[in-house]
Amino acid sequence: MHEALLFEKLPSSFVRCGTCQWRCTIAPGESGYCRIYQNRDGSLYNLNYAQVSSMAADPIEKKPLFHFYPGSLCFSLGGWGCNFHCEGCQNWQISAVRDRERWYGSREVLPEVAVQLAQNYDCQGISWTYNEPSIWFEYTLDSARLAKERGLYTVYVTNGYLTPDALDTIGPYLDAWRVDVKGFSDILYRKLTKIMHWRGVLEVAERAKHKWNMHVEVVTNVIPTMNDDDEQLKGIAAWIYEKLGELTPWHVTRFHPQYQMMDLPMTPLATLEHAYDIGRAAGLKFVYLGNVPGHESENTVCYSCGKLDVARSGYETRITGLAGSKCQFCGAELNIRTNG
Ligand code: SF4
Repeated sequence: MHEALLFEKLPSSFVRCGTCQWRCTIAPGESGYCRIYQNRDGSLYNLNYAQVSSMAADPIEKKPLFHFYPGSLCFSLGGWGCNFHCEGCQNWQISAVRDRERWYGSREVLPEVAVQLAQNYDCQGISWTYNEPSIWFEYTLDSARLAKERGLYTVYVTNGYLTPDALDTIGPYLDAWRVDVKGFSDILYRKLTKIMHWRGVLEVAERAKHKWNMHVEVVTNVIPTMNDDDEQLKGIAAWIYEKLGELTPWHVTRFHPQYQMMDLPMTPLATLEHAYDIGRAAGLKFVYLGNVPGHESENTVCYSCGKLDVARSGYETRITGLAGSKCQFCGAELNIRTNG
């Protein structure tokens, strides 16, 4: 148990949590919507500080991040719980488990240990992923600070629902913001995630890029009959183009039936290719299909000269034409962060 950083004391020992945009008002002895932050005697505590459900040295492409240190290994940690309740969650075994008694196999991995493990496994960076990182915000903040001191890059793989305050607190220590944008309407977001103010996800992503100079990549898991219509996909693509820029990668990924959405089919390839066409027609230079190993759209091809800059097949990555962030053949800017 760890005291929360972002909360406000209210009369009668109530508190208001300031970590995510639910901004829960919590009575003494009660927990917020996520059930991970709890009011004890008028103070707020995080219940899963350093409680790790999963960790691995992953290729950065698995996040997915395609324009951020391609080919590098990223030490990846997940905890428990979430502030969204998505019926099709791909990691529901850890995100939907909110009661401590059911955290089977949980291990305490303090920030010093996590950062040391990243270095032991020759990882160039560290990420908080698998479940929503803001759910153990204090842990990710302490770890990110330490990781930056040791020269590692830092990545949030997030649903993007942090408050601007939370973002500004961790912003100085984060390098990449890999955010899900699940749809582009009130009804869709409410149906898929149960949240009310989804536009806050967009605003915080824009802030991550423009205020904190983070590298941003966007993922949309395309779910048949839910968010696979042109209105949703065109809305997302147009927002990326207008607010994040044409060089921002957009990953449109295949949904696999999971959790409470077992009745829906896997996303047809044709639907993903249609989403790709929508992204390109909106002006985006880099649209990638995800969960379709071997598809040619996994590669980074220069939009200017048409040459292959990064070849990918599954999680095999080969750099074939990069000079720093640019195409080695024609000098076009690709918005790729590298060591060079
Ligand atoms: S993190 Fe979000 S859901 Fe959890 S208590 Fe705080 S405001 Fe509520």
